[in-house]
Amino acid sequence: MERISPMSGSRRLLSRLRDVMAGEEASQERLNQIVAIIASDFVAEVCSIYVLRAGEVLELFAATGLASQSIHKTRLSLGEGLIGRIAIQATPLALSEAQSHPDFAYRPETGEEIYQSLAGVPILRGGRVTGVLAVQNRTARSYTEEEVETLETTAMVIAELIANSKLLSQDELHEVEKLGLSPIAIDGIRLNRGIAVGEAVHHENRIQISKLVSDDPIAEQLRLDQAVAEMHGAIDQLLEAKDVAKGGEHKDILETYKMFAEDAGWLAKISEAIKNGLTAEGAVDKVRNDTRARFRKQTDRYFRERLHDFDDLAHRLLQHLVGSIKKHKNLKLSDDIVLIARNMGPAELLDYDRSSLKGLVLEEGSSTTHVAIIARALDIPVVGRIEEAIEKIEAGDTIIVDGDNAQVHIRPSDKIKETFINTLASQAERIASYAALRDLPSKTKDNINVELHLNAGLLADVQSIHHTGADGIGLFRTEIPFMNSHNFPDVRRQSRLYERIMQQSNGKPIIFRTLDVGGDKSLPYWDNAKEENPAMGWRAIRVSLDSPTLIRNQFRALIRASQNRRLSIMFPMITEISEFDKTRKILDSELERANTQNYLPINSLKVGAMLEVPALAYQMPALLKRVDFISVGSNDLFQFLYASDRGSPKISERFDTLSPAGLSFLKSIVEQCDASKTPISLCGEMAGRPLEAMALLGIGFRKLSMAPSSIGPVKEMIRSLSINKLQKILDNLQDITDNSLREKLRDFASNHNVKI
Ligand code: PEP
Ligand code: MG
Repeated sequence: MERISPMSGSRRLLSRLRDVMAGEEASQERLNQIVAIIASDFVAEVCSIYVLRAGEVLELFAATGLASQSIHKTRLSLGEGLIGRIAIQATPLALSEAQSHPDFAYRPETGEEIYQSLAGVPILRGGRVTGVLAVQNRTARSYTEEEVETLETTAMVIAELIANSKLLSQDELHEVEKLGLSPIAIDGIRLNRGIAVGEAVHHENRIQISKLVSDDPIAEQLRLDQAVAEMHGAIDQLLEAKDVAKGGEHKDILETYKMFAEDAGWLAKISEAIKNGLTAEGAVDKVRNDTRARFRKQTDRYFRERLHDFDDLAHRLLQHLVGSIKKHKNLKLSDDIVLIARNMGPAELLDYDRSSLKGLVLEEGSSTTHVAIIARALDIPVVGRIEEAIEKIEAGDTIIVDGDNAQVHIRPSDKIKETFINTLASQAERIASYAALRDLPSKTKDNINVELHLNAGLLADVQSIHHTGADGIGLFRTEIPFMNSHNFPDVRRQSRLYERIMQQSNGKPIIFRTLDVGGDKSLPYWDNAKEENPAMGWRAIRVSLDSPTLIRNQFRALIRASQNRRLSIMFPMITEISEFDKTRKILDSELERANTQNYLPINSLKVGAMLEVPALAYQMPALLKRVDFISVGSNDLFQFLYASDRGSPKISERFDTLSPAGLSFLKSIVEQCDASKTPISLCGEMAGRPLEAMALLGIGFRKLSMAPSSIGPVKEMIRSLSINKLQKILDNLQDITDNSLREKLRDFASNHNVKI
């Protein structure tokens, strides 16, 4: 038989395979035809397809040239024999003397002892091994690189057949797609406590490729060229954007990215796959599969990052080729999902159905990023900084988010799953024991009363006042309903919402914070320019004062909702007194307007400021004359005090909130408020952590505001604490040189049986 050159043959081969794929025959019959076609094309005596089955077994599914009784009988475990080795290493193997290879495993039922040479490739789907395709020859044949490449391309088509046929049941297929990876537990950082068990859903959905094979490589190359040009254009546009063009790290990253996008080697590999008979998207996917398989084996961090860049680029290129990605939120999701994302904005989290969203795993993240805060408000366990979560977790994997121990279990064994389900049950008991605390006073052992309030942002949160027995809402983040809306809510819509919140609180006080948008809290319908340093940029009261209609409407809505009721309002990010005065003036003019419009008067109006910019702490006397209360926003305050971005994974945990400097700063503010009898509370995330809350009580705070799930643990701590004994540790803070008092405070708690 005449040899067909692999290059031209590859396309012909794929086109013949495509005919088989399009045929009506049963899947097994099609596999039989495929092995026969490949064997004849390769002039090989044997062609075999092994499929990975549940239980990590490679089963011989189809073969030509091997004894027919071995089909569906011969089974190898992952790593066993040459076939098992190809699967476990996810790399091709071409051997002219296969039998002398140390991994060769002889299976008498196959009758393969007469074949000397073997070339095999992994059948990859989404970078994951689902089987092995191999050819064998009687003679000591040396397979060329091109031949191996052709086998790899062919294997992609087979991967599709395995995935889309009924060769394996859906359940088994689902299990198989997860194989090649054993259960793993990865440590990250705790962003919210609690345990969740659910099915993994990627926030960024994968792109579906419907057509893999084409016999028109010229047209496919043109499609690729066009998509590459579009992708380059899009990257150029990013580079030209005003904020990037100025330079800085952002620009460097994009420049490098652009360089990769123009990488001739990468593009040549894609073109090669097109020449071999794949569609443009099939070719990009093939090269991406190869990259991913290499990625899994690479341990060098630098190379892993580079491979990651190529993976990202392939994703972009596929977007240009196939069109935009559908978001999961439009799809039917399972009942219990754990969301996997690199990072996400708070509004994006709110897009998911709250009843099915059980947990969140982030590759990045820090405890004070707003997505973590929202997750806390929703009581969703979150673990952040799980390296390569997106890579390691397949959609549909069972995931356990152990927020308490900052660990994520991927594909846990039944035993681990069972343990967690038991823990969940005992946690439910613990929650029930907190529920028992609900009506008990929040008083220390030395009889000091501590007010506990909630941080809220959704109407549904208001109910938590009743479940937790909280004294009220110490921070209602009004931007959250704005983030949850498709457009700017008008006065009527806002006032209806505020009224319902007030009604549902049963007369307990609520502090409404005016809009704090900007930073990482962007509104989907508001396209404001990107800033280099958004946390310190145009946000919160700065936006409100520059767009007075916004705040005017909000005041109008709050006043309308408060007829005959109490109203407390506070302004975020006040940096200087004049900002407070200007905002207050707008509020007063709205109050006057309401007077002329026959609205019922407000029962009591309290106006406060958030103290979250250090500069304001140096204007306390002037501030205290103006405000009815102060609420410390420690999340922002600490990021500005330490010059440490609250959202940056690298540094957000670098400085401890329990540092002598931070506590000393807070103590001086509390002392000034106490001297002027101005109520002060703290509503940053530290208030909700029992140890931190204990320190805050030690420096004089008597009112804290936190996520609903923290009320129980913090109350338990309060009821086991004697503040008098604690104060000594917190004296002379300015003289303490330790970088944190955490250990000392922990020792205190353990020596005095304080439940932290
Ligand atoms: C804070 O900064 O501590 C705060 C409560 O406000 P936010 O987290 O919403 O910025
Ligand atoms: Mg803040």
